[in-house]
Amino acid sequence: MKVPLLDLKAQYRTIKDRILDVTHEIFESQYFILGPQVAALEKKIAGYCHVDHAVGVSSGTDALILSLMAAGIGPGDRVISTPYTFFATAGAIARVGATPVFVDIDPDSYNLSCDRLQEAVGAMTAHQLKTVKAIIPVHLYGQCADMDPILELAAAHGWVVIEDAAQAIGAEYKGRRAGSMGDYGCFSFFPSKNLGAFGDGGIVTASDPKVWEQLEIMRVHGASPKYYHRVVGGNFRLDALQAAIVAVKLEFLDGWTAGRQDNAARYRELFASAGLADRVGLPVERENRHIYNQFVIRVDTGRDDLKAYLGEQGIGTEVYYPVPLHLQACFSGLGHAAGDFPVSERAASQTLALPIYPELTGAQQAYVVEQIVAFFNR
Ligand SMILES: *Cc1c(COP(=O)(O)O)cnc(C)c1O
Repeated sequence: MKVPLLDLKAQYRTIKDRILDVTHEIFESQYFILGPQVAALEKKIAGYCHVDHAVGVSSGTDALILSLMAAGIGPGDRVISTPYTFFATAGAIARVGATPVFVDIDPDSYNLSCDRLQEAVGAMTAHQLKTVKAIIPVHLYGQCADMDPILELAAAHGWVVIEDAAQAIGAEYKGRRAGSMGDYGCFSFFPSKNLGAFGDGGIVTASDPKVWEQLEIMRVHGASPKYYHRVVGGNFRLDALQAAIVAVKLEFLDGWTAGRQDNAARYRELFASAGLADRVGLPVERENRHIYNQFVIRVDTGRDDLKAYLGEQGIGTEVYYPVPLHLQACFSGLGHAAGDFPVSERAASQTLALPIYPELTGAQQAYVVEQIVAFFNR
């Protein structure tokens, strides 16, 4: 049996007619950049995320860079985030000339640890603390970070809060939607995200009208009005084709999320009856709406062998992420060494993402768990 990590063709088959209709309309209009399709999507996403405004952008990475630029963060500033995330989170901080300050994660949720955050803040000199301008909590794998303590600290120190919600559209923390809790919410429409475009794309959510205005201006080279530039922005525009496709897919998102949640529940049952409880750590649901962008298991030893074995049995898996960011070559200038963030380092060597996409069948899931059992019984 073949079980890919993700099967976008299966999803496309169910929405093909709708997609071809909206893209045909755009081809006929020959209106490709921003415009009514993007404005319509921005309205829908703002509603979905329980915020007042949204600004369509060219990618999730650009959503982060644009937010940092709109917040006026640059050289000399420090931004707190997690070392256990996709590279773009810290890459965006470095791209605007600021310095990432890493704080280790919670071992159960893989999100920023509020205890470690308190410690890190307590260990900073007054000068260091003054240069911290923002914090980027990441809602990893589709589950929100523990936002209340983060928001409290941010308010106490005057930090801007930028949520990296690239993996978490529709996820909730105490009833609040991802992207609605900070000053900025950054989302990605990369095809493998829960709400994916047919190419690159992203969006920034915000409720403060001043923040919204700044985002809109910075998205088009800082122009307001056109050809008059008070600030230097960039080209962070979303195109009409991607916006129209994402708007169609948004109608199906809650159904797809329910499918992922059902699959997660089925994995839990399968793992429980397979008697693997002491060998395989399952995702810990801390927050009340986990949207399962990934279903990530943890094994003490042999993760890479397990991945290779499953690959031989036709099962796609992935490691998100094998090298924590403080150990990436490009950040060697920060002076970190192995051992600095042990929880992230352990996660990087022990976690494995299994197929969880909504179209996955019960038979495929049973096969995945059977093969994991077979691996441990070799
Ligand atoms: C995907 C992702 C991004 C970047 O999104 P792109 O659209 O690929 O640029 C940023 N942060 C996290 C946590 C992501 O998963």
